[in-house]
Amino acid sequence: MATIAAEQTVRWDRAHLWHPFTQMQEWLAAEPLVIAAADGNYLIDAAGRRYLDGVSSLWCNVHGHRRPEIDAAIRAQLERVAHTTLLGLASPPSAELAARLVGIAPAGLTRVFYSDAGATAVEIALKLALQYWRLRGEDRPRFVALVDGYHGDTLGAMSVGFSEPFHRFYTPLLPVARVPAPYVLERTQGLDSEAALAGALTELEAVLARHRDTIAGVVLEPLVQGAAGMWPQPVAYLPAVRELTRRYDTLLVCDEVATGFGRTGRLFACDHSATAPDLLTVGKGLTGGYLPLAATLATEEIFRAFLGPYEEYTAFFHGHTFTGNALGCAAALASLELFTPALLASLPQKAAALARALTRHVRPLPHVAEVRQCGLMIGVELMRTPARREPYAPVERVGHRTILAARRRGVVLRPLGDVLVLMPPLSIRPDEIETLVAVAAESIAEVTGT
Ligand SMILES: *Cc1c(COP(=O)(O)O)cnc(C)c1O
Repeated sequence: MATIAAEQTVRWDRAHLWHPFTQMQEWLAAEPLVIAAADGNYLIDAAGRRYLDGVSSLWCNVHGHRRPEIDAAIRAQLERVAHTTLLGLASPPSAELAARLVGIAPAGLTRVFYSDAGATAVEIALKLALQYWRLRGEDRPRFVALVDGYHGDTLGAMSVGFSEPFHRFYTPLLPVARVPAPYVLERTQGLDSEAALAGALTELEAVLARHRDTIAGVVLEPLVQGAAGMWPQPVAYLPAVRELTRRYDTLLVCDEVATGFGRTGRLFACDHSATAPDLLTVGKGLTGGYLPLAATLATEEIFRAFLGPYEEYTAFFHGHTFTGNALGCAAALASLELFTPALLASLPQKAAALARALTRHVRPLPHVAEVRQCGLMIGVELMRTPARREPYAPVERVGHRTILAARRRGVVLRPLGDVLVLMPPLSIRPDEIETLVAVAAESIAEVTGT
C-alpha cells in the first residue's frame, strides 16, 4: 500500500511539480526521496526509513516534528476556527502572539505586522522604512545592504540581497548600496579579524556619509549571513553598525528570519550584543517550523509616524489574505512556550558538542577549507585545494553528491553550493549530534577522497 502511494507520488511529482531552487532537468533524471511522515528529529520516507533532519526542514523546524504541545495547540485552534481576517477584525491568537513577541524581542520593538514568509516580512520592513521617511517629509529611496546578503525571493527582498547564481536574471528594483561584512574583507583581502572589522565599518561609514539623507535604512542579517554560506560576524559588528545608523540618522533593519528563535545560541542574534534595531523580521522558526507565518516588528516611533486622520491616507496599505492566520499564531504561541530557561541554557552546550565533533571528524579532512559555526548554524566549505582556495568545478556537484551520500547513511541535508550546511533542530540530542557530524564527515570523505 505504502509503496504504491509512493510510486503515484513520484509520477505526479515528475509530471506536474516545479520544485524551488531546483534544476528540474537534474530532478527529473533522479529518483526523488518522498517524505511521508516525521517523528521528533527524524523524517520518515514512504518505505518507513528514518532520516535525521540535519537542516531542520530548511532551517525552520525548532523543537522537532510532531511535538505534542504544538500539535495540540493547532488542534485546539482548529476546534474554534482555522482562519479569520485581520483586515477589520481582531483575533485572540494573533493578539496574544503579538504581545508575547514584543515581550521577548529586543528592546523598543512594540508593534507586530504579520505576513506569511520571510520574504514578505522583509518586503514589509522595506515598505515601512520607505513610507516612514516620506511621512516625515523626507525622500529616502535608498537602502544599504551587505555584499551577498540574502533576504528572500520576492522582488524587494531580492533587491536588498544578492547572489550571482540566484539573481543574475533580475535587475534590482530598489537603489541599493552594498557594503562588505567583516568576513568578506577577511576572505578577499586577507585581513585579520580586527582589521576586517575596522575596514567594514569604515566602508559602511563612507557610504552613509556619501548618501547622507537619502538612505532609508541599513538592512542586514545579524551575526550570521546564512544563505551566503554561513558567514559569521564578530559580535562587535552589529552594535557598531547600530551606532553608525544612529550617528547618520537612518534606520537599522535586522533580518532574523534565519537567526531567530535560538539558532545562534540565544533567542535572537541581536541578543548577543543587546542591539535594538528599528525593524526586525522573523519567519522560519516562528511557528516551530510548522506553518507559514512571519512577522515584522517595529518601534513605537515608526508606528506613530503612520498615525493620522483616515482621509490623509497615511495608513500602511499593505496586507495579505492570510495575514495573522489563526492556526499559525496558535502554533507560534505553543512553540514560544517551549523556549524554557532549560532549553535556552542547553543551547551553548549543544553548540559546544557540535564544535567538538566537528573538530574531531570534519576539520581534519583534506578538502574541508573552512568550518564556520555560530550556535547551531554550521557551514562546512569544501574545496579542491583549500591551501590555494581553489574551488571544485560546479559540474562536479560536490555539495550535492555529499548530501546524497549522507542520505544513504540516514541523514537529510541540503547544501549551499559546495558549503555543506548543518542546522539541526534545537531539540537534537547528544547522540544525534555525534551521528550528524560523523555522517557528514564520512560523506565528505566518500565524495572528495581522503
Ligand atoms: C530564508 C530567509 C528569508 C526568506 O524567507 P522565506 O520564508 O523563504 O521567504 C529571508 N531572510 C533570511 C535571512 C533567510 O534566511
